[in-house]
Amino acid sequence: MSSPIAILGGGIAGLVLARRLHERGVAFELFEASNEFGGMARTLRYGAFGVDTGAHRFHDKDPEITAWTGALLDGAWHKSHKRSAILKFGRFIEFPLSPVNVLRNVPFTRGMRYAWDFVFRSRGEPANFRDHALTRFGGALAEDFVLQYSRKLWGVPLETLSLELGTGRLKNLSLATVLKEMCFGERKKHEHLDGSFYYPRGGYGRITDALLAGLPAERLHANCAITALVRADSGYRVTTPQGERMFAAVAGALPLPKLCAMADWVPESARSLARKLKHRHLVNVFVMLNRPEVSPHASLYVPDSDCLVTRVHEPKQRCPSLAPADQTSLLAEVPLDDATAAQTATRVPAVNRLRDETVAALARLGLYKKDEVLGAEAHVISNAYPCITLESLEQRRAAVAALEAPGAFYCLGRSARFEYTHLHQIFREAFELADRLCERRPAVQPVAEA
Ligand SMILES: Cc1cc2nc3c(=O)[nH]c(=O)nc-3n(C[C@H](O)[C@H](O)[C@H](O)COP(=O)(O)OP(=O)(O)OC[C@H]3O[C@@H](n4cnc5c(N)ncnc54)[C@H](O)[C@@H]3O)c2cc1C
Repeated sequence: MSSPIAILGGGIAGLVLARRLHERGVAFELFEASNEFGGMARTLRYGAFGVDTGAHRFHDKDPEITAWTGALLDGAWHKSHKRSAILKFGRFIEFPLSPVNVLRNVPFTRGMRYAWDFVFRSRGEPANFRDHALTRFGGALAEDFVLQYSRKLWGVPLETLSLELGTGRLKNLSLATVLKEMCFGERKKHEHLDGSFYYPRGGYGRITDALLAGLPAERLHANCAITALVRADSGYRVTTPQGERMFAAVAGALPLPKLCAMADWVPESARSLARKLKHRHLVNVFVMLNRPEVSPHASLYVPDSDCLVTRVHEPKQRCPSLAPADQTSLLAEVPLDDATAAQTATRVPAVNRLRDETVAALARLGLYKKDEVLGAEAHVISNAYPCITLESLEQRRAAVAALEAPGAFYCLGRSARFEYTHLHQIFREAFELADRLCERRPAVQPVAEA
């Protein structure tokens, strides 16, 4: 007998769907390749220090999702209003950019160039990420604060990137803002786009822990990598090293190219489009420090091309329990292309070399002195960011459509839909998919007990 719903992938997307189905009495089986659940949204412990697998924040953009997650955590989170900053010209410049703050912190002549380029910038309708930054900020400001950083982060020509990657973050500078700031001073602490966010007590991974706590352990299968997916008359046959199982419906939350490669009903044309989709990977370097604090910011962005790091955050600024009172830590993100990531994931010396280079780079940025370093760790996050190029929009559409074509197969989450989505959006997707799956319920058979 087939059990009703298979969930492939135990990242946040798979876990939220499992939770929503379980709350409504719908049975599922969840398969996760690694020995831990949570995917990209976990908190790691190193002795008295804790660190997330990236600079995570929970954005308060969907009231129902925020309320649900707050209840899930039993209220054990707080709203943070800490600002981020861009490290440029040896100064912390506030991010999102505030005109008065920028002019106060950059060399006078560069500031004048920003103002000139901003006033005389082209105002056409942008077709790609690069043009969007140029029409928003003008040449010089865009180059120093957006384009350099983005080249490093994405590793592809910026005119090939989709607007999807930029519109949220780059919508902050206008002549009206300049005038408002000149009359009323810089924006107040909370009036900034990137500012307020929720953060769970004890680390972002508490969201994963809370999701898991309400789920039946016997339905969660860790160390259980999906190796093949076969379409059959009665549903889908899902293969893992532990055996094969039939399911009436499947939610796939693995990276989209992987799903396409495994699904026997996906035509070669769609598979080859999916293979062209590129992810950016990360090495996260965690540095523990013998000093109480580095900077009060939520995150620090590093645009300069001569530094391998793109972003740094200090976990303690999100939750004090992530470091001892008299010590602190930093997590630096170093983007990698496919080839370097493949080498780094399998070779300890390669990852250690990157770790050591990063520790030295952060010291050169003036964030600490070398003799304050207590220790450093590095870990690879594969498929961290979907690289949304203009070309990829059609490729992902075709790949998702081919996977979902037979019906009762659904792509879910950032990795499987190849979208630059955040947690609140993934939660919303999982809520909606749970609703759809519950509508199918009369056709769904009871779970087969092992
Ligand atoms: C550095 C960084 C910072 C971020 N910051 C934020 C932020 O501030 N706010 C925010 O909302 N979001 C943020 N995100 C995004 C957020 O982490 C992701 O959107 C979310 O975690 C994606 O969840 P997912 O379940 O879709 O994918 P994943 O987490 O990738 O889950 C996929 C799962 O599938 C498993 N898997 C892979 N292959 C197989 C297989 N063959 N069989 C079984 N299982 C398999 C993987 O092990 C993984 O657990 C950030 C991401 C990164 C990388």
